[in-house]
Amino acid sequence: MITLLKNATCYTPKLVGQKDILIVGNKIAKIDSANTIKSNNLINNTLDCTGLVVFPALIDGHVHIIGGGGEDGFDSFNQELFETEIVNSGVTTLVGVLGADKDAKNLYHLLAKARSLELAGLNTYIFTGSYTVPVKTFTGDITSDLTLIDKVIGVGEIAISDERSSHPTVQELIRLASNCYMGGLLSGKSAVVNFHLGDGKTNLMLLNQILQQSDLPKQMFLPTHINRNESLFKQGVEYAKQGGFIDLTAGEKIGLSVKDSVKALIKQNVNMSNVTISSDANASTTCGMAKISSLYSDVLQCINAGISPEIVFSLVSKNVAGRLLKGTKTGQIKTDYLANIVVADQSFNILKVMSNGKFLKN
Ligand code: ZN
Repeated sequence: MITLLKNATCYTPKLVGQKDILIVGNKIAKIDSANTIKSNNLINNTLDCTGLVVFPALIDGHVHIIGGGGEDGFDSFNQELFETEIVNSGVTTLVGVLGADKDAKNLYHLLAKARSLELAGLNTYIFTGSYTVPVKTFTGDITSDLTLIDKVIGVGEIAISDERSSHPTVQELIRLASNCYMGGLLSGKSAVVNFHLGDGKTNLMLLNQILQQSDLPKQMFLPTHINRNESLFKQGVEYAKQGGFIDLTAGEKIGLSVKDSVKALIKQNVNMSNVTISSDANASTTCGMAKISSLYSDVLQCINAGISPEIVFSLVSKNVAGRLLKGTKTGQIKTDYLANIVVADQSFNILKVMSNGKFLKN
């Protein structure tokens, strides 16, 4: 399949002006000045993108693809997530996580669901483990999970500073992260430890202690839900200023919205390439089930509030790929990268979504 997107306003996520983009198979083969790549018999599909905008499809790094365990008994399970909802939200790459329930919901189901979404045309990965330490794994060992199972790119979400956590010690977390780090070296993956931060009183204390008491690299840790309350957010700003990576959760209604968080981070001169946003979709929240559509809603809210689209798109594409998907050419509109592209109107309303060179939303 060869597709030509003609004369599109292109965000790579950097705004590079009007471009023609040639897609061959699942990859971007060529990007050139507008109206310079000519249609020919070999091109199956030419789309005139005059007046339209293209940007990298979203990468959602924290999604409960099989549904989070409802935290109010067995009749409170959250439903699984289906491809239509994912694609309609502009997402073509996602990382599945287990969450609070590691028993009724489990890693085997999570892996199978990731494979089923891949068969539907999406790009999927998972974290091994759940809230609890010691972690449940596939093989009995985090290093082995990373080394032997292609889709496993890290461990998480490990709950800290939350009454629902297993209250792990610093030493337990250092051991867990070391096993993850080793798996990353052996498999060539990012090997991230994804920490779920709750509303507990210790905030980022344990994470800071891990860094003080070990030689593990800061970039292997990705604490999420950083915008859920003021005091956690404050610590998150300091952590990011010192070179740490932080993940905001979309759709936040009680703490700081993504829009207000991004504004505050920019104002405080945080290096925005250290920041990502994820949806936490299909998890239980105090306001009901989180939705994957909240990710793009928050993107639009940021842009409508005057934040540069270049920065906003980076938070949900390039930065996420850089943090989680080492060795995978994705998250940018760039030659030889996977053709994961959103076509939108000038107000950034999503019109079409391409995953691996194929339009899944038309
Ligand atoms: Zn969480």
